[in-house]
Amino acid sequence: MFKALVIEKDEAGYRAGVREVGDDALPDGEVLVRVAYSTINYKDGLAITGKSPVVRKFPLTAGIDFAGTVEASGDARYRPGDAVVLNGWGVGETHSGGLAQKARVKADWLVPLPAGLSARQAMAIGTAGYTAMLCVLALERHGIAPGAGDILVTGANGGVGSVAIALLARLGHRVVASTGRLGEAGYLQALGAAEVIDRAELSAPGKPLGRERWAGVVDAVGSHTLANACATTRYGGAVAACGLAQGMDFPATVAPFILRGITLYGIDSVMARPSVRMAAWERLARDLDLAKLDAMTSEIGLADAVQAGADILAGRVRGRLVVDVNR
Ligand code: NDP
Repeated sequence: MFKALVIEKDEAGYRAGVREVGDDALPDGEVLVRVAYSTINYKDGLAITGKSPVVRKFPLTAGIDFAGTVEASGDARYRPGDAVVLNGWGVGETHSGGLAQKARVKADWLVPLPAGLSARQAMAIGTAGYTAMLCVLALERHGIAPGAGDILVTGANGGVGSVAIALLARLGHRVVASTGRLGEAGYLQALGAAEVIDRAELSAPGKPLGRERWAGVVDAVGSHTLANACATTRYGGAVAACGLAQGMDFPATVAPFILRGITLYGIDSVMARPSVRMAAWERLARDLDLAKLDAMTSEIGLADAVQAGADILAGRVRGRLVVDVNR
């Protein structure tokens, strides 16, 4: 038996709670992992509260990511004792998730823990941080080099935002952080933001084009914020869109695309190819300042994860929340 945060939905309603479950409840997969840490991402909040239909099978263990140690493997690539990380692939949505002491998954879904990162640090990064890296890689591929101009990061106090700021600043970019929590300006500056702006500047319906401000954008927010970010991106610049914290809508015009030649990159972490993931994790191990990672991370136990799911949706979480599934 082991502990897991299980989502149930039946006549009694939708609920999440820590339960003792047996190994027989684990789904098929070649690799059995003893989980050390998982995390609370925005999507975990949606799954735990039931606010969006993230979980599509009941009962199901929640948790879209985990880091741990291989206990048993039927795949030659992994041996007992290997340290591994998992993000996405429907884990915590249709396949039993990482907010548990054990997980069984397909070998193809795992990434070896990069040298230089502990399991806890990998989950302090988590799916939010790995997605931030995917956004930064998209801007790099576009050719946006340090010194190209300001990079806007929206949802700055969140997980994606915090990691994006730390990464971009370390790489030498001038980062402008957009937040609804101006009282956290000191935290954002410590992560590397050169300037902090009120998210209200971007979150209301705007004009098709505005003053050209950003060489690039990492957007975790969507809706009018994404539309306004596009409308104020400089000629030839790029926007990496990964989130929907404000909304899933995109109330924009084509003006920034056809008059300023800007590019909008869609970022998906869930089904990203293994080679893309490995590259992102290697870059995280190399380019993320671990002292800043530590400064943005808080730790909770498995029993606290239900409340944390509600907290993240309410915008009450700053930075990243790691979950020690063994306490
Ligand atoms: P967090 O909750 O940690 O961060 C979201 C941040 O967005 C908040 O901290 C807040 O920042 C800001 N925000 C919240 N509500 C609003 C609002 N109504 N209007 C404007 N800004 C708002 O979430 P994560 O960092 O874990 O995820 C961020 C987004 O990215 C989510 O939508 C998530 O679903 C998405 N995501 C997508 C992935 C993908 O594969 N595409 C993978 C991972 C995440 P502040 O207080 O500073 O304003």
